Amino acid sequence: GLRCGIVGLPNVGKSTLFNAISSAKAESANYPFCTIEPNVGVVTVPDERLQILEELVHPERVLPTIIEFVDIAGLVKGASKGEGLGNKFLANIREVDAVIHVVRCFEDPNIVHVAGGVDPVFDKEVIDTELQLKDLESIDKKIAKVERTAKSGDAKAKKEFAALQAFKDHLESGKNARSLQASEEDLEAVADLQLLTLKPVIYVANVDEGAINTGNKFVDALKAHVKDESAQVVIISAAIESQIAEMEDPEEKEMFLAEYGLKESGLNQLIKASYALLNLITYFTAGVKEVRAWTIQKGWKAPQAAGVIHSDFEKGFIRAEVIKLPDYQEFKTEAKIKEAGKLGVEGKEYVVQDGDIMHFRFNV
Ligand code: GDP
Repeated sequence: GLRCGIVGLPNVGKSTLFNAISSAKAESANYPFCTIEPNVGVVTVPDERLQILEELVHPERVLPTIIEFVDIAGLVKGASKGEGLGNKFLANIREVDAVIHVVRCFEDPNIVHVAGGVDPVFDKEVIDTELQLKDLESIDKKIAKVERTAKSGDAKAKKEFAALQAFKDHLESGKNARSLQASEEDLEAVADLQLLTLKPVIYVANVDEGAINTGNKFVDALKAHVKDESAQVVIISAAIESQIAEMEDPEEKEMFLAEYGLKESGLNQLIKASYALLNLITYFTAGVKEVRAWTIQKGWKAPQAAGVIHSDFEKGFIRAEVIKLPDYQEFKTEAKIKEAGKLGVEGKEYVVQDGDIMHFRFNV
């Protein structure tokens, strides 16, 4: 599944957000394959289409897809040199698909700011610097390995060396690897390094309840600052999120959100932003035993998409039967869908579309 790591300076609202996320986990009992670690919160991805399918198929159970949020606390100035629990946390970041970088955009005289004043851009740079230093360390190690071969004239090593050098220069100028205009080849040269600042990032501006709709000057400063990184800024109030997390009744939640003029929780916005950022889409399987959502990358072909269910599905792939949700809604049963000629029979080259209802045929 998708794994997002929450980072940020101390006292910016990470734990508040993470605790809200963890208590929203609701259905995690259905996910025995998730190892429950104290710093990992598993949330289900809300999707109206699952309800539509549930009403059509009446399955024994419905399984939404999930996202794991990892609380990567303890990232402080000096972490790259092993300060605090630095190195362990940096290793945690390597394992995530996306980074959620929380920055403080609320003022509160009672809550100490580690650097003395609210300044989201400064905060972000402190964290970024630690990550950049760590990336430089990885790059320097690799440069030391390829330098000699490159200088001896080996064409491949030369290219690799040039790419590494470009990333190095970029990082040394205080920028994140993700903002370098890199070619496919350049990216290949650093692929094995799993650079921390190359990971896709979402900035979460944690604001006071009152600023949730309007934003504030801190949010504006942050947005202006990150506009060159293809990153999203999501405005959240951790305080609102923690109140929502305690509500069980969906109607109560909706009313509460409406009071703030919100259509959905910050958590849901964050989930949507993660899907968009990572180019993810959802397909469904629908049977009487189980209706289930699966997450794949946009552009994946049928066999690869089948592989997220089981590697055997990919290896032994024969064909896929595909139903579009509107057809399911119109014709109601698979038999009638077939009769109407709306059951797609697709081969290995079929590119799975968001919302497809898939049935895979495979050899064991
Ligand atoms: P962390 O160190 O980043 O995990 O930060 P915490 O989540 O522990 O938050 C630090 C303090 O700020 C706690 O006392 C929170 O209750 C408070 N806090 C978090 N978000 C907000 C907010 O949006 N507004 C205000 N006023 N306080 C907040």
